Amino acid sequence: MRSVEILGVRLDDVTLQETIDTLDGFIQSGQPHLIATTNTEFVMAAQRDLEYRRLLNSADLSIPDGVGLIWGLRVLGKPIRKHVRGTDTVERLMALAAQKGYSVFLLGAAEGVAAMAAERLKARHPGLKIAGTYAGSPDPRFDDAIVEMIRKAGPVDILLVAYGAPAQEKWIARNMSRMNVPVAIGVGGVFDFFSGRVKRAPTLIRNLELEWLYRLWQQPWRWRRQLALPRFALCVLRLKVGSIVAGKKVFTE
Ligand code: UDP
Repeated sequence: MRSVEILGVRLDDVTLQETIDTLDGFIQSGQPHLIATTNTEFVMAAQRDLEYRRLLNSADLSIPDGVGLIWGLRVLGKPIRKHVRGTDTVERLMALAAQKGYSVFLLGAAEGVAAMAAERLKARHPGLKIAGTYAGSPDPRFDDAIVEMIRKAGPVDILLVAYGAPAQEKWIARNMSRMNVPVAIGVGGVFDFFSGRVKRAPTLIRNLELEWLYRLWQQPWRWRRQLALPRFALCVLRLKVGSIVAGKKVFTE
């Protein structure tokens, strides 16, 4: 698999279908895997938080889940093929799970949201096995109890963790070795969408790559977090200008 690096963070150049095939392989291997749906907010968080950067770079799969990343990589002369959305990945993974009999545990989001998301997923994917749902907390003090709950719910093939970045990836990294779960993915606000609590952007807006703007309109309090986007753009442009001035193309794969 080809990988590229942007501002010190690794991204895998995968399509949605390749992502699903890779995750299927991970499940069949039976070994634990950490999957990150990396977006520009992740990359900017990883500039300050070196532990998080290391963790993202050691992920078994780092999915390029942000149009900003696609743009930045193009500007820096190392384009990747596709923007692979976390929401689409989870939807397709649930279809695969229903088809192959994989069981799924939904961890995180506000009270009742994971359960509602699970109900809606089961309606869309008949036969989908839900091993359990739990809101819980990313606070390490609750790790033992949550891990125990997941182990008891088992076997679990896919664990979706919705604690937002970087808490969700850190939660998985801390606990993956003591859960028998082959695929653990940080999914951010995906349960909010799946439960119907937050409306996802219409297809046209998604196709125009303006989902971030729609989200800002729906949840205006996100503006501060979304400042990561212009900050990211600035870093990319600075790198680009630096490389032009230095008279060489930046290419650090
Ligand atoms: N969340 C949680 N516990 C926390 C912090 C966040 O369950 O301590 C949940 C929150 O309810 C939401 C998800 O984590 O469902 C994070 O969603 P966000 O929109 O921040 O993620 P994004 O999609 O932007 O990565």
